[in-house]
Amino acid sequence: MNEYPGGKGVVVELLRNAVRPYAWGSRTAIAELLGGPVPAPHPQAELWLGAHPADSSVLLHADGAQTSLLEALHADPDRHLGSRCAQRWGPRLPFLLKVLAAEEPLSLQAHPSAAQAAEGFAREEARGIPPDAPERNYSDPSHKPELICALTELHALAGFRDPLRTVELLAALDVPALEPYRTMLAAEPNADGLRTLFTTWITMPEPAVKAVLPCTLDACVALLRRDGVCDDFRQPRDGDFRQPRGSDFRQECRVLLELAETYPGDVGVLAALLLNHVVLASGDAMYLPAGNLHSYLRGTAVEISANSDNVLRGGLTAKHIDVPELLRVLDFSHGELPVQRGERVGPQETAYRTPAEEFQLTRLEWADGESTPVLLRSSWPQILLCTRGSAELRSRDGGRVTVRRGGSVWLAAADPDVMMCPGAGPVQLFRALPGLAD
Ligand SMILES: [Zn+2]
Repeated sequence: MNEYPGGKGVVVELLRNAVRPYAWGSRTAIAELLGGPVPAPHPQAELWLGAHPADSSVLLHADGAQTSLLEALHADPDRHLGSRCAQRWGPRLPFLLKVLAAEEPLSLQAHPSAAQAAEGFAREEARGIPPDAPERNYSDPSHKPELICALTELHALAGFRDPLRTVELLAALDVPALEPYRTMLAAEPNADGLRTLFTTWITMPEPAVKAVLPCTLDACVALLRRDGVCDDFRQPRDGDFRQPRGSDFRQECRVLLELAETYPGDVGVLAALLLNHVVLASGDAMYLPAGNLHSYLRGTAVEISANSDNVLRGGLTAKHIDVPELLRVLDFSHGELPVQRGERVGPQETAYRTPAEEFQLTRLEWADGESTPVLLRSSWPQILLCTRGSAELRSRDGGRVTVRRGGSVWLAAADPDVMMCPGAGPVQLFRALPGLAD
């Protein structure tokens, strides 16, 4: 992955990053990226690159010494973060970069706004809920806007679908037990109607779920059969989603059956009926603002967010669920989130734009045969993650470091500029830095 050729004047530091083994993780995607045994013995869900207190990256110095990035930032914020970053956010890295590898759907979740996070954190602190208690919602006082950029085709549920379209979906399913809910939403096809229906479903007692969910799933099967789809109801692979055949709601039915297979009897499956199904192609990104209800279903992606782990869950998980708290932060407006293809900001660099002050993400790419170096200039802290090929980082005084696929480096704010030279192509790296950086 990474190597120091033992040269002089090394100005960047390589990182070792923590793998989070959540049950929904892939046994292949992160293992392949890191060059480990495939399949991995346990699911590998997330690779964390940054300085979150729960799992900080480690700086690997050229002399073999190792330091936690979190401790390094505290010990020398001026060098690592720079004065502007430290003034704005104190001695902490404002962003967290992740590789996310979902083999199964993640929990149905939303993240709080800055004000909600500060209030929620203070409330749980005052109640004396221990930081690692399972019922703790707010592990820090920060909001968590996030941007997800697909490395493979990524399927997700994100934001509420136009309620009029959901009324059509419920009509197409034609389930008598769903009829009162269809009528309810049709009478109020707006944020209030979505709030009422989502709240009704997500708080439904188990016997009521048992009365509605199985017949809804049967209706999904019937709809797919009617449209001539064979008995394999799992999502089609290889871009088949782009060729709609028959009913417009085949994708929605497939998602529901897939969710029910992973989380049988979970009321989150029913709630998923209200959400947009989004498919991102490799390189596409989506920004999720505070209050957006979402669940990543399947695929590998780079995710960047504010340096926070504040998640409110409503279902589709074995983790802690807090429906009242989720309902407090949810945004019930509807519509599809814009898919970003990225904007060219240099010959090799594409940027994804977001309103977040804490982070920005760019993608550096060289096709086979391209060799133009890129000067990485910044007085802000940066993390580089190599996702394809390799690149050499060179400093003016002759220091050289090679970063290979799966490898990552830390560029401290006070370090001099470095030149990035691609290895044999194709080469791809992601560059993370604060959103306020120029
Ligand atoms: Zn999220």
